Amino acid sequence: MALIVQKYGGTSVSSTERIKNVARRVARWRALGHQLVVVVSAMAGETNRLIALARELQAHPEPRELDVMVSTGEQVTMALLSMALMELGLKARSYTGAQVKILTDSAHTKARIVSIDEALIRKDLAEGRVVVVAGFQGVDEQGNITTLGRGGSDTTGVALAAALKADECQIYTDVDGVYTTDPRIVPEARRLKTVTFEEMLEMASLGSRVLQIRAVELAGKYQVKLRVLSSFEEESDGTLITFEEDQTMEQASISGIAFNRDEAKITILGVPDRPGIAYQILGPIGDANIDVDMIVQNVSHDGTTDFSFTVHRSDYAKTLKLLEPVVKHIKARGVESGDKIAKVSVVGVGMRSHAGIASAAFRTLAEEGINIEMISTSEIKISIVINEKYMELAVRALHKAFGLEQPG
Ligand code: ADP
Ligand code: ASP
Ligand code: MG
Repeated sequence: MALIVQKYGGTSVSSTERIKNVARRVARWRALGHQLVVVVSAMAGETNRLIALARELQAHPEPRELDVMVSTGEQVTMALLSMALMELGLKARSYTGAQVKILTDSAHTKARIVSIDEALIRKDLAEGRVVVVAGFQGVDEQGNITTLGRGGSDTTGVALAAALKADECQIYTDVDGVYTTDPRIVPEARRLKTVTFEEMLEMASLGSRVLQIRAVELAGKYQVKLRVLSSFEEESDGTLITFEEDQTMEQASISGIAFNRDEAKITILGVPDRPGIAYQILGPIGDANIDVDMIVQNVSHDGTTDFSFTVHRSDYAKTLKLLEPVVKHIKARGVESGDKIAKVSVVGVGMRSHAGIASAAFRTLAEEGINIEMISTSEIKISIVINEKYMELAVRALHKAFGLEQPG
């Protein structure tokens, strides 16, 4: 008998028919004698619908109230699944995040889990119940409802698996695993049987939304056995996130390609080249809790240089406003900026032992006539900023150039 945490995403619970389907799957696992804790997302589109409602009243909805509202999406599906399970003759009970005490900090809309009180869950499991828990939500010390950020039900699943020391955490979604890139963009993308934890971390942080990055971080911290599977397909055994690197010589150098359109680029022109300038520019932005991603500064020839960086698109307008006084103060020549950019990243632990990956990526983009605006690299990834309109072309070309459609 194993203890298994299963998480079902929005598409998997988007209708009562699909919820029945989930219940049947849970029943099959129960019939094998396993204990089941099931985390559910809101029905597909529901969280977006609720956020849009709030925006009809407030341009920037009050975060506490927003959390009270968006958490209702998961409260609906958890009860529906519990009912569907009972209809199949199983014992089941659903709980909100607050009821099972998923204690978080008070950072509304992006709260972090502090602890989970497993006593109630364990008691239900011992009494033969399937425990259904609302994903994406928690409660802070003061009793306020909090949410964990978009895609946060993944994190609820992994956190519960960690707290309960579950044998496996299964993330059921609308694709049967982690692919070499988003199969919606590249139909030839191939499912990876395994992906290392480090690669998954990079892919999640670079835009592959198949797993929320915090879920991956938690899985790493608590060594949770994590698998991504399809809730629509029976045959595939999905993708296992592994903690060991494949030591075979034939290991591919690249595992996948991630992309996102979530960033904006800002260039400050004619910045005087002297100590302290980077701090003067980025200090106020950091103080405003805005994350800066890539930074590029060129060498100066006439005592001035151009200074470029990227921020999340939602922080773009605020960042430009913060820069106005700074640009005046440091006597820079001006600002050039745009949010029509995309970041495409090539990820793979094999990069450590294979030279020439970066130049192969640059050559591929050159052959497609795509101009590179910024580059950043780490040991296992290369990220390239390009004009947004070439993003899909770049992803397809890189996928082909690295032979990712062929079995590894
Ligand atoms: P859920 O609602 O189940 O949480 P998500 O929409 O959050 O599902 O995540 C699944 C989606 O992630 C897929 O439908 C796919 O389009 C997208 N995706 C992006 N990158 C990848 C990738 N490398 N492998 C698989 N899916 C990916
Ligand atoms: N319903 C939430 C969202 O859409 C959480 C989740 O689905 O993981 O972001
Ligand atoms: Mg998701």
